[in-house]
Amino acid sequence: MNFRCPVCMYPALPYPPSDYHICPCCGTEFGNDDEMRTHADLRREWINNGAHWFFNNPPRNWNQWGQLEAAGYASEIPWLRGLTIKQTAESVYNIDPKSLIQSAPLVYTHKEHTRFYTVLQTA
Ligand SMILES: [Zn+2]
Repeated sequence: MNFRCPVCMYPALPYPPSDYHICPCCGTEFGNDDEMRTHADLRREWINNGAHWFFNNPPRNWNQWGQLEAAGYASEIPWLRGLTIKQTAESVYNIDPKSLIQSAPLVYTHKEHTRFYTVLQTA
């Protein structure tokens, strides 16, 4: 049985996120790192540090942004922060050109797919 990390949303923890287990993706030690800080705080910190894989090598085709997006946390992806976005069917996002902000890379390419985002409104 797999568990999802409540910090980085890695979906394949082999153990529950508790009891001093450490997430191999974000490195959170449950029961220690999350004692004084919320999972949202830890997630923001992980993302601000580049959202890198923590332990050894990541799984093949692992993508931190796809992982966040798949769990409904696309709004925490740095270039989407402050935007209200809407996930459409099949996890594909469309773009409303009226709302584009200049430097936002609203499309990024994953190894297996290209993502698009709907920007419903800017902050
Ligand atoms: Zn994690």
